[in-house]
Amino acid sequence: MLVVMQSDATAPQVDRVVAVIRERGLTPHVLPGTTRTAIGMTGNTSAVEAALFESLPGVSEAIRVTKPYKLASREMHRDDTAIPLPQGTFGPEAFTIVAGPCSVEDEALIFRTAEFLLENGITFLRAGAFKPRTSPYSFQGLGREGLAILKKVREKTGIAVVTELMDTDNADAVEEAVDVIQIGTRNMQNFALLKRVGLARKPVLLKRGMSATLEEWLMAAEYIMAGGNYQVILCERGVRTFADHSRNTLDLSVIPPAKTQSHLPIVVDPSHGTGKRAYVPSMSLAALAAGADGLLLEIHPDPDKALSDGAQTLDFPTFAKLLNQLRQLAPTLGRSIPSGRSESVC
Ligand code: PEP
Ligand code: MN
Repeated sequence: MLVVMQSDATAPQVDRVVAVIRERGLTPHVLPGTTRTAIGMTGNTSAVEAALFESLPGVSEAIRVTKPYKLASREMHRDDTAIPLPQGTFGPEAFTIVAGPCSVEDEALIFRTAEFLLENGITFLRAGAFKPRTSPYSFQGLGREGLAILKKVREKTGIAVVTELMDTDNADAVEEAVDVIQIGTRNMQNFALLKRVGLARKPVLLKRGMSATLEEWLMAAEYIMAGGNYQVILCERGVRTFADHSRNTLDLSVIPPAKTQSHLPIVVDPSHGTGKRAYVPSMSLAALAAGADGLLLEIHPDPDKALSDGAQTLDFPTFAKLLNQLRQLAPTLGRSIPSGRSESVC
C-alpha cells in the first residue's frame, strides 16, 4: 500500500499516517517527491485497507502496490530517483562514468588512475580490494590493505570511490572507507549481505546476478531498501547465455523494462558484460543510447599486465577516445557528462 499525501499536506498530517502504519505493526517509509509526499509500508502480510488511510486528514489516495517489490517499484515512486554525491549524481540527467582497474593492485596504480580520471573530468573511481575470483588460486585482492589505499586516494584527491563488499565481516570497514558500496553479481542474492547494506548510510551499486531475472534483481534491491537504505543504483553487467563469442551477454534490453518497473538509476558495465576490450567502446555508446544513467568501466595503464580482468580492460588512450565520443553523443540524448576538474573535489 502506498499512501499519497495531498500537495499541501502538513508535517503533522504525514506524522499521523506514519503513526497509524506503526500501530498496525508495519514499517512506514516516507518518500518525499517533487510535488507531494508518499508513504509506503512494508511488512504487511494481509491486505491493508485503503479506506483506513483515505479517511485521514491530508491524504489524497491510498494505492495498492501490485508488484512483489514495493519500494523499488515505479508504482511507489513515479519520478526517477537521483542519488546525489558531492562528486556527481546517479540519475536521469547526468551520464555518470565510474572507471578504474578491476583490482587495487598497489598504491601507485590507484593514484595514477585517479589523477588521469580527474584530469579527464571523471570523478568516480572503481577498484576492488576484495575480489570474488572463480579460482581460489587467482589473485584475491589486497583486502584491508587495498581498502586503506582507496581511503587514502579519496582523502588526498577528493575522487569518489566505488568498491565491492563481499561479506558482512568487512561491512563497517568498507562503509567507512568508500563512497559507494558495490554488491557483485555473485552476491546479488546473498540476503544477509543485502540486509547489512540496507542499514548502511552509503549508496549501494547492485550488480545484476548473472542468471537473475529483472524481478529477482528488483527484489534484491527491495531487500536493501526495506532496511531503510533507499540509495540503490542498479548495474547491468551481462548474463549467462549459450553465446560464447563474449564472456557474458550484455543485456541492454533490460534497461527499458527496468525503467518502466522501477524508479532506480541504472548503470551498465560493458567490461564484465563482454569480457573483451574490443567490444567495450561500442557497447558503452549503445548503453548511453539505450537509456542507461551511466557506465562502470575497467581501465588500466597497461591492461595486459593487470592482475585481474585484463582482457576486458581499456588502456587510458582508448578510454579517453571513448569519453570524447560519449561527450559528443550525450547532449543529443538529453544527457550531460561533466568535463574538466571539478572545483568542489580538488
Ligand atoms: C567487478 O566489478 O570487478 C566484478 C567482480 O564484477 P561482477 O560482480 O559483475 O563480476
Ligand atoms: Mn573485474
